[in-house]
Amino acid sequence: MNQLVDHKALAHSHPLPALKAGTAVPVSVSFGDGIGPEIMQASLKVLLAAGANIAIEPVEIGERVYRRGHSAGIGPEAWESLRRTKIFYKAPITTPQGGGFKSLNVTIRKSLGLFANVRPVRAFAPFVATKHPGMDVVIVRENEEDLYAGIEHRQTDEVYQCLKIVSRPGCERIVRYAFEHARANGRRKVACFTKDNIMKLTDGLFHTVFDEVGAEYPDIEKQHWIVDIGAARLAADPGRFDVIVTPNLYGDIVSDIAAEIAGSVGLAPSANVGQHGAMFEAIHGSAPALAGQDAANPSGLLLAGVMMLLHIGQRQAAERLHNAWLKTIEDGIHTFDIFKEGSSRQKVGTSAFADAVIARLGQEPAVLEPVRYEGEAHAFAVPSAKPTIPAVKGLIGVDVFVHRAGRDAEGLAAGMQSAANGSYDLVMITNRGVKVWPNGLPETSLTDHWRCRYMVKPDKQLNKAMIAELQMRLAQAGIDFIKTEHLCTFDGQPGYSLGQGQ
Ligand code: NAD
Repeated sequence: MNQLVDHKALAHSHPLPALKAGTAVPVSVSFGDGIGPEIMQASLKVLLAAGANIAIEPVEIGERVYRRGHSAGIGPEAWESLRRTKIFYKAPITTPQGGGFKSLNVTIRKSLGLFANVRPVRAFAPFVATKHPGMDVVIVRENEEDLYAGIEHRQTDEVYQCLKIVSRPGCERIVRYAFEHARANGRRKVACFTKDNIMKLTDGLFHTVFDEVGAEYPDIEKQHWIVDIGAARLAADPGRFDVIVTPNLYGDIVSDIAAEIAGSVGLAPSANVGQHGAMFEAIHGSAPALAGQDAANPSGLLLAGVMMLLHIGQRQAAERLHNAWLKTIEDGIHTFDIFKEGSSRQKVGTSAFADAVIARLGQEPAVLEPVRYEGEAHAFAVPSAKPTIPAVKGLIGVDVFVHRAGRDAEGLAAGMQSAANGSYDLVMITNRGVKVWPNGLPETSLTDHWRCRYMVKPDKQLNKAMIAELQMRLAQAGIDFIKTEHLCTFDGQPGYSLGQGQ
């Protein structure tokens, strides 16, 4: 691999309309909170000095906007700018503590359909200390689904739930993006991390789609790892990985671990890419304790700026900037987070680091490999998923979730059976997913949250009205049911999981 930031394909993945020579590309820019304003000013200064032809549209997001009553930290003017420019260069923001606030990042990613979060992670040994000098991994994280759907409920005195939403089109888009990215960048392997030994339907779908889509890329080696051992191996031996594609939550965790073991979270950039726009940012947060000290490392945001320049087709500026940055790192001009007595040459603050990069524009590193973005790069379109072919769906039962204190599974079963009214068989009751009736174990610890599974009797045809009638009978019997889930087959295959111990 030639590139230290491996994302030249991004330059082609979301082509902009042809611009007249000299027309500046409008970019929405937020200065953020904490260290945000310092590192954004430093980064913009370097970008412009490197020849970036961008028209900066400042937008306000973050802490002050939250405090003005916008629950996601973003107001209508900022939305208007983002939807028009379709390019967002974003400094980190502070999310206020406490309830009532939604994550700004998750809101922007999901509202604008930025489904792919691309995080290249590389070591810069011997200039930045790292246990893994050869580390060179790209993490492609799904950005819109999974537990980040943010659908949570308190259901009983004791139990809360968070819904994990995984769609086939969502899996297809991200997996295909990972394979296209690998192919366009000359990478040989794509590894998929899931927990499908436990979450057989949701993570199982991600794995299945990985196998299906992967079959279209015979030139690329494919591996599947259970996320826990995969993450452990990544931390111990990152050389065995090339591109990793993984659902949202695992990707969030794994990419921070990867950035940290490569050297510093202060060095890692990320791109959030979709069909209707892209957002570029550092992976770190607003580091409030460092704010106002001119000390923070602007490199993550600066390298995100390189990704943005590639994305908008300004490859010459991207290459100049990136090579000057590499030369600065190589010359031992380091901010405090990567400064090491003996190996670094000069400890500098945020603005002096930016000036050092500017002073090296036009130079290339001698030991680290220079980047080459000017040459021919392979284009790929941001993938869309195949249209969904509806399955033949059969309604065959219903899970009823009940709030009930105490350990009396037999008593609950008797009440639920009498509400069945000859239409259903009560086949099991679980508590936190473990079967406790019939034949539960006395050792199983119980909560006040029960799931009662009814299957329609073989001689009956189930319909929604019968489920509504069942709910009426449960209500009349004083059973505190908190939700129902329909049990369906799709083309004859069960669309629900079994109880543990069933
Ligand atoms: P953080 O990333 O801000 O800081 C974690 C640690 O990394 C701190 O020790 C900090 O000193 C160090 N660090 C981070 N960036 C650095 C840099 N550029 N140079 C040198 N050192 C750096 O994480 P946190 O403390 O958990 O979060 C602080 C705030 O940032 C919270 O409000 C959080 O919600 C927010 N946050 C925002 C984003 C974003 O806007 N994309 C991402 C993560 C966290």
